[in-house]
Amino acid sequence: MLLEQQTTDTTTLPVMEAFYTLQGEGAHTGRAAYFIRLGGCDVGCFWCDVKESWDIDAHPKRTIDSLVSEALQYPGRMAVITGGEPLMHDLSKLTAALQQAGFQTNIETSGVCQTVTGSWDWICFSPKKFKTPNPEIYKRADELKVIIYNQSDFAFAESFVPFLRPDCKLFLQSEWSRSNEMLPFIVDYVKNNPQWQISLQTHKFLAIP
Ligand code: SF4
Repeated sequence: MLLEQQTTDTTTLPVMEAFYTLQGEGAHTGRAAYFIRLGGCDVGCFWCDVKESWDIDAHPKRTIDSLVSEALQYPGRMAVITGGEPLMHDLSKLTAALQQAGFQTNIETSGVCQTVTGSWDWICFSPKKFKTPNPEIYKRADELKVIIYNQSDFAFAESFVPFLRPDCKLFLQSEWSRSNEMLPFIVDYVKNNPQWQISLQTHKFLAIP
């Protein structure tokens, strides 16, 4: 499925949704952004809040031109490509078109795919325990964002740090349904390990997409 997707059609992509909002998480929190959520993911996080994205065939294909044209209707010039797992697709043409149109290209990826296609201004690497990342992503990551569901996730987060660039930003973010339990632990962890920062899903607190 992956190779077929990457070699047969790179001018259209299965899009679950595309919308203009504020980036709610991580290093670019609070900035206006055009989000493109692509279909397809086989990582299988049981707490995933976008399970509708998993089926690669369940989403209409859109042309890159239509996505860029729609993004240009808004004043923000940051595009965030997410999913699903967006790197299941060859994103070279999409990122070239976005950058040519003046967009900063950001991606949020679990890093599990064989190759990192596309030209990226910002890579948010968000590894999951359910599928091992491809080490190719480690030195490319500008930001590590680990979801904290239980206590063992702190050690999981730390396990990646030796392999990252020294300037890679480090974020811990509670899984939304576990916020009441885990946020106090994250606050304590960041106070004791100040190389980390907390990431809050501010779009959920604001009740915006
Ligand atoms: S990697 Fe992301 S989209 Fe895929 S199952 Fe996990 S949380 Fe959901």
